Amino acid sequence: MKTLKNPVFLLAALLFSSVHMSFSFLPSAAADQELKTVAESSNFTATSQYADVQTFINSLQGLSPSLRVETLCVSTEGRDVPLLVIGAPPPTSPLELRHDKRLVVYIQANIHAGEVEGKEASLMLARDILLDRDRPYLGRLVILIAPIFNADGNEKISKANRRNQVGPEEGVGIRYNGQNLDLNRDGIKMESPEVQGLARNVLNRWDPVLLVDCHTTNGSYHKEPVTYAWPLNPNGDLSIISYIRESMMPWVNKILKDKYNTLSIPYGNFLDPRDPEKGWQPAGPESRYITNYIGLRNRMALLLENYAYADYKTRVYSNYFFLRTVLDYCYNHNNEIQQLIQETDQRTIQKGLNPAESDRFATSYDLKPLKDPVTILGWEMEVNPDAQSWPRVKKTDIERTYTIPYYCDYHPKTSIPFPFAYLMTVADADIVTKLHQHGILVEKLTNRVSLEVEFFQITEVKGAERIYQGHRPNSVKGEYTIEKKDFPKGTLLIRTAQPLGNLAAYLLEAESDDGLLVWNYFDKYIVPQWQRNPQAYPVYRLLKPAILATQTVR
Ligand SMILES: [Zn+2]
Repeated sequence: MKTLKNPVFLLAALLFSSVHMSFSFLPSAAADQELKTVAESSNFTATSQYADVQTFINSLQGLSPSLRVETLCVSTEGRDVPLLVIGAPPPTSPLELRHDKRLVVYIQANIHAGEVEGKEASLMLARDILLDRDRPYLGRLVILIAPIFNADGNEKISKANRRNQVGPEEGVGIRYNGQNLDLNRDGIKMESPEVQGLARNVLNRWDPVLLVDCHTTNGSYHKEPVTYAWPLNPNGDLSIISYIRESMMPWVNKILKDKYNTLSIPYGNFLDPRDPEKGWQPAGPESRYITNYIGLRNRMALLLENYAYADYKTRVYSNYFFLRTVLDYCYNHNNEIQQLIQETDQRTIQKGLNPAESDRFATSYDLKPLKDPVTILGWEMEVNPDAQSWPRVKKTDIERTYTIPYYCDYHPKTSIPFPFAYLMTVADADIVTKLHQHGILVEKLTNRVSLEVEFFQITEVKGAERIYQGHRPNSVKGEYTIEKKDFPKGTLLIRTAQPLGNLAAYLLEAESDDGLLVWNYFDKYIVPQWQRNPQAYPVYRLLKPAILATQTVR
């Protein structure tokens, strides 16, 4: 990869010479303070081990009263994953925030422990906020930081990991957690202590308005060191998607360039690397991806993908500047964000109370380009004639600016009416636990009732041939039928009139592109047993509002 480094390296050198001259708020507090991250103290040749992170946090606590530390989870290998709570003062519980207007923002780094610059940048950020006498942001924000989300993956640092990435030369951790799971595919099945801890101790506890998930790219060549994406799944409330896309990110993009001298573009890869003009596209809309998942919860999320072929120092600083810009945005738009979130929750509850004809659940999507194209500073590409398989292309030295369609707008292609509630006729403790882990309210009927419901008669169920994340994800075919059905006392009821109503639908719909049926949670109820055909999906759709006597299931 040596020949590929040079242009980026030059760019980085350019960036940094100008950055250092023009800005006073650089993380150069590090130079004055003794407290440095491993990235800084190694002159950007190494990244922090778990113990280094713990020592750094302990030192910060010795220097500032504005930091409390909570435990996000205990990892598979037994490590306490720290969650920094930064505030002036740091709240001891979310209940305290009822009495002030501070917004909670959550920064998550190192979910893929080979992608390390978020860990270094978020620690630098914590230090530079806590040790700044002005305590920037803390008048309006409470900042949560998980600098080492995948602690077990981080401890497997080796020079052999992610060798295509440009540094740090002393090596990085691995992608997977202690269970060999990819945590950024665990948004729905939630089978890792890390993502369960994220739900329990961050999302359901602190309810941050925004999650920023820090990564490093794997793909296309371009000059911009920062790339970003927002929630993509159209089963989330579209106001969140359009707010980030149309209001927040144009601002962030501009400030990042004007104030921090850092270029950014929406995240993606060329649709066809052999012909970049065809367009640019991010990863898919499935909510196994954490940022898509957050959108289904009516909250904002940003995927940060730092450019893997930028050198390590550039990536750390770019990540740092991106985080600062996002905090600048939240600080300056705190009332607007608060209002957006409140309205989205209220709209979701209203929709569930009395679903309208136009309220739909999308069962498949069309992917369209946005109205405006993206402009990418790239190079001309050349097809490698030695390549055995799709699509081995090489970057040439000829610079080229691509202004091309950005395919990231998922629209419903097929859809079904959004229901008032779901009735689940199997008393499955694992599924109830899963719903509870997500924060969904589950009730049970306290009387027998007879209701007209719609159900999905499965005609075909197929597990994937290849095992994926410990599963054989299902795809199903079937037909909807309406019938009058008796539901005994004790039948489980999940209403969509709750703040997480969109998520409840996504988890429970038979045809959801990434719901619990996909992840095998219903296998034993739907596969044929002593009969030839698959069984009916045991979650019934109650389309019209009904008054039902229920009790909450704890
Ligand atoms: Zn990643």
